[in-house]
Amino acid sequence: MGPPGAGKGTQARKLVEKYHWTHIATGDLLREEIRLGTSRGQAVQALVESGKLVPDELMIELVESRLTDGGTYLLDGFPRTLGQAQALEELLTRKGAQLTGVLFLEVPEAELIQRLLRRSHAEGRADDTPHTIQTRLQEYRAKTAPLLSYYEERGILYRVPGLGDVEEIGNQIAKIVETLLSSP
Ligand code: AMP
Repeated sequence: MGPPGAGKGTQARKLVEKYHWTHIATGDLLREEIRLGTSRGQAVQALVESGKLVPDELMIELVESRLTDGGTYLLDGFPRTLGQAQALEELLTRKGAQLTGVLFLEVPEAELIQRLLRRSHAEGRADDTPHTIQTRLQEYRAKTAPLLSYYEERGILYRVPGLGDVEEIGNQIAKIVETLLSSP
């Protein structure tokens, strides 16, 4: 978890490479569906490009279709609302699976805006424009930030400072992951 521009995608890719988990990056999946012009892609395009969150029902369906049984998954960018978190909990219970831990990348807002603007030049993502960045941060504050206390209460939230060297942040995450993997 983390606000837009915190480095979730970058760190997630490092983790799946190291541990061979299955990576479920909901933003990437949505962008791919938009690119292919699927019916789901068409349904979500305007929302994604304006920086709004996609409705829970659609997101839950998308994640459920990817969580086939067995193996270890890294969820990147999901859940982003309380409704999604509750649905995920139910889904995992139904499958006899569990959430091992929630990693939260903390980055100050001024830094996020700078990073997102840089990314808009480098990658040309349709949702990295100044106006859309504000919408995404608002969505984050209103709908996603409350998940921090949700997971804190469950004792599975791990905060990682997301400022500084990418490798160093990766090392801190790896330490947490190693602890989680070695505990019963
Ligand atoms: P990301 O690549 O994770 O920044 O996601 C890009 C966009 O996809 C977001 O701004 C949302 O419009 C949409 N999106 C991705 N994941 C979710 C989610 N879990 N819930 C709702 N919308 C999502």
